[in-house]
Amino acid sequence: MGGESYCVSGQPSPSEPAVELADIVVVGSGFAGIAAAIEALEAGASVLVLEKMPEPGGNSVIDSGQLAVVGSPQQEAHRIHDSADLLAEDILVNGEHLNDPLKVRYIAEHSHEVYEWVTSLGVRWASGVAAAGGHSIPRILFTESGSGREIHQALMRKFESLGGKVRTNCFVDRILRGGNGTGRVEGLLVREGYRFPDASSGTPVRILARRAVILCHGGFAADVAYRQKMDSHLTPDLGTTNQPGATGELWRETVRAGCEVLQAGWVQSTPWNNPKEKGQGIGWLFSEYAPPLYGLWIDSDGNRFVDETANRKVRTEAIFEEHRRGRRVFCIAAEGCGKLLDSIYEGYLGTVLRRGIVQRFESLRELGEALGIRPGGAEAAVKALNECIRARKEDPFGRSLRRMKPLRSRRWLAAEMTPKVHHCMGGVMTTLSGEVLDARTQLPMGGLYAAGECAGGVHGACRITACAILDCIAMGRLAGRTAAVGGA
Ligand SMILES: Cc1cc2nc3c(=O)[nH]c(=O)nc-3n(C[C@H](O)[C@H](O)[C@H](O)COP(=O)(O)OP(=O)(O)OC[C@H]3O[C@@H](n4cnc5c(N)ncnc54)[C@H](O)[C@@H]3O)c2cc1C
Repeated sequence: MGGESYCVSGQPSPSEPAVELADIVVVGSGFAGIAAAIEALEAGASVLVLEKMPEPGGNSVIDSGQLAVVGSPQQEAHRIHDSADLLAEDILVNGEHLNDPLKVRYIAEHSHEVYEWVTSLGVRWASGVAAAGGHSIPRILFTESGSGREIHQALMRKFESLGGKVRTNCFVDRILRGGNGTGRVEGLLVREGYRFPDASSGTPVRILARRAVILCHGGFAADVAYRQKMDSHLTPDLGTTNQPGATGELWRETVRAGCEVLQAGWVQSTPWNNPKEKGQGIGWLFSEYAPPLYGLWIDSDGNRFVDETANRKVRTEAIFEEHRRGRRVFCIAAEGCGKLLDSIYEGYLGTVLRRGIVQRFESLRELGEALGIRPGGAEAAVKALNECIRARKEDPFGRSLRRMKPLRSRRWLAAEMTPKVHHCMGGVMTTLSGEVLDARTQLPMGGLYAAGECAGGVHGACRITACAILDCIAMGRLAGRTAAVGGA
């Protein structure tokens, strides 16, 4: 179901951009955009989805496919008692209570619904369930394929079955408001035939929305200049996990158009990427999921420096500090972690060893020598941790060692880690149902909604693992539904 063409003045003029019309115009074709579009189509609206890149999907198709779910069959199989209250509490505590509590409650209460919906659309889940990076109990599920693409493909199948199509190479340049630029949003000025990243490419076209525009344009972690302006620590030497099109043009444009924008400087870097890999890679799974039962993080002096199970913000800041002091950082783990990692993704350990992303050593001494760790440092760090576990002493970094047994192994695994810029917690300010607020009036500006990573306020100071997919799909669906029935 696409838009209809018509000419504003009755006569097409070479100087006036052509005009198209649809009930709902969605910007961005990731989880949030496609979820919103499905709901709007199901409500009977005509929908146009615009995407600047040649392929749909944004970060959602390179995502790792981890979803936080309360009350999954995997939790039930392991007798894990969870609740929406507990998930909401984990999101708020790690977000340092900078989050919007209503949105947090909404996504926590809808995690099971999101799980059931995407499962009904064909997503298959691995049998494992895990806790990581801020979750107080195991509730993270993993797609069978190990990728968020599986979830995106399921959404796309549903979207296309309803007649939906993504218009690619279509760059959204301007948000058009009536009332001399202070009234309701009427549509967008776009460049059709745009070729990323050439800002002058494509032909200008005006697209008008009868009911609403829904912004789902994602974050800007790949926009080195803009991210450094928002947070001066995010220097060009830092890599990113994001796709190249995760850039900030619409973040600037929403400000220009008068949208209220909050917390744009809260940009998360993941702690544990492997310097041998481009983008997110797969080595991070070892550094994230091996330590809770099988490992620890040490620096090149052989010292532990952080609670290895803390949230991403705490761990990333600790690694930045180590790097400032000229020290490299490593995850080391007993070989027994391979069984756990393979239960998350079949054949994982073999793959990372083959690719040289994770290395295997016959002893801690050999590991230390090969990685350039101070002689005796790795052995001393493992010994100190084991003594803590045996004596049931409090860990100096505050890590819970309750479930841990002393580490003993014939062979050891290790990988280096480095942070990469990952996720934008801030964004345009919206009501619970996604209506964008006008910075001047603090009221919904009318005709404009937002959801997903470009909408601020859900995650506060630190997004915890596996909660972005949940946010994008729960909030995207709500915005699509509300906008289509003419909410604002
Ligand atoms: C490598 C990686 C792994 C991740 N793994 C997980 C995970 O396992 N679990 C989890 O919960 N979260 C994860 N995340 C986070 C999650 O994937 C993202 O937050 C989510 O995909 C964002 O979805 P979205 O729909 O908001 O934006 P996106 O999927 O990024 O889509 C936005 C789209 O808008 C387009 N766009 C931008 N500007 C314009 C414009 N001006 N005109 C037209 N189009 C435009 C972009 O090109 C893009 O396609 C991961 C992120 C990354 C990068």
